[in-house]
Amino acid sequence: MQFSAWLSVTASGFPYRKLSRYNSYVVVNLNIAIVHTPKRIAVLGATGSIGSQTLDIIEKHPELYKAQVLAAGRRADNLIGLALRHKPRLAIIGDESLLPQLRAALEPHGIATAAGPKALAECVEAADIDMVLTATVGYSGLEPTIHAIKAGKDIALANKETLVVAGNLVNRLLDESQSTIYPVDSEHSAIAQCLRGENAATVERLLITASGGPFRTWTHEQIAKATPDDALRHPNWSMGAKITIDSASMMNKAFEIIEAHHLFHIEPSRISAVVHPQSIVHSMVEFTDGAVKAQFGVPDMHLPIAYALGCNTRLSGAEKSLRLEDYATLTFEKPDSKRFPCLDFAQICLERGGTAACAVNAANEVAVQSFLQGLITFPQIFEVNMLTLEASTFVAVPEYEDFVAVNAEARRRATEFCKSI
Ligand code: NDP
Ligand code: MG
Repeated sequence: MQFSAWLSVTASGFPYRKLSRYNSYVVVNLNIAIVHTPKRIAVLGATGSIGSQTLDIIEKHPELYKAQVLAAGRRADNLIGLALRHKPRLAIIGDESLLPQLRAALEPHGIATAAGPKALAECVEAADIDMVLTATVGYSGLEPTIHAIKAGKDIALANKETLVVAGNLVNRLLDESQSTIYPVDSEHSAIAQCLRGENAATVERLLITASGGPFRTWTHEQIAKATPDDALRHPNWSMGAKITIDSASMMNKAFEIIEAHHLFHIEPSRISAVVHPQSIVHSMVEFTDGAVKAQFGVPDMHLPIAYALGCNTRLSGAEKSLRLEDYATLTFEKPDSKRFPCLDFAQICLERGGTAACAVNAANEVAVQSFLQGLITFPQIFEVNMLTLEASTFVAVPEYEDFVAVNAEARRRATEFCKSI
């Protein structure tokens, strides 16, 4: 007999309604034995930076986790290799032209295959999925996340763009669902850890740390001439290309402020970014009595991923431990929005609300791609985002279809701006 047990947690008053979920077998014999079965996970973005670190954790803890679905975009060879290793029930490739290759390699091994955005969105609804890890890039994360919420699945959310684009809609859907979002982003994981056991009414401010990226000490003139290689050279973190460029422009920090607002229900004026070049303090919470709680750790995503997979619980056996004595100084600075104007998009988008952040996110995806292809300069990422925001249709109280339309329109406009700028 299989059953699921649910625990409710309300002590902190924060949006983590469930502490954990277990799938257990009860074998009735002379004695009763409870055997925990692994949590079955749909890993969306399996071939990427977050996806592969998630699979490391799953592989190290087969008693806790099983990769039930693996999905990727275009790297079919990588996906095939991962599927043969992890033996999921289903492997999905975003690019439909690659399905025959996937099918030929995996179906002889009893692994089902599928392709395209519809398959990606719908795979999360299956009865044998306990948790969905969303680690695709950009707008592509929104649809599967919405399907997962509607199906009542827990979500380990790496894809911050989902909350940037449609945070209010996601929160509305969460209110009507059994689903809970556990943040994977290191800053938001840090904040969730700092909030454990605290009363929501005593939170004064969230302080989101930022490494400052590769251009932290560069002048305006130097930044104007930055090449894709310069921008891809992140000082502390090894990540996918899109988020690495967003870190260099500090658009990533603007997105993280928006993400924090929707995750923790704190108004934007009480969320600030602080530059902390060592990336050891992953974020902080200031309380009404003046206390500031911080979470420290080495810059490595295994910890926040594992914390989210465990529904905000801790694993034993740290990947790497922090030796504070190796760091002579930890420093903190104010961010400079003159050199990094993309940071201002947090305030602009949160003040305007509606589809403003959706338009900026779409423009930014196009602009980052165009910068990487050498079509625009680094400072023009900001220009394309701003021009697109001002030119795009604005819907004040959007439904899902409005986000689809504004995303498509903003991409079209941003592509034109990238050609004409
Ligand atoms: P990567 O570029 O390394 O990986 C992206 C993954 O998504 C790949 O598996 C890619 O497949 C897949 N993918 C992309 N588009 C699609 C699509 N349309 N359909 C299906 N799969 C798709 O990105 P990261 O792992 O760095 O980032 C993933 C998300 O996590 C982003 O939203 C990022 O902001 C967030 N994040 C990342 C952090 C990090 O340390 N990397 C830290 C905090 C947040 P393929 O390669 O086969 O095309
Ligand atoms: Mg982050």
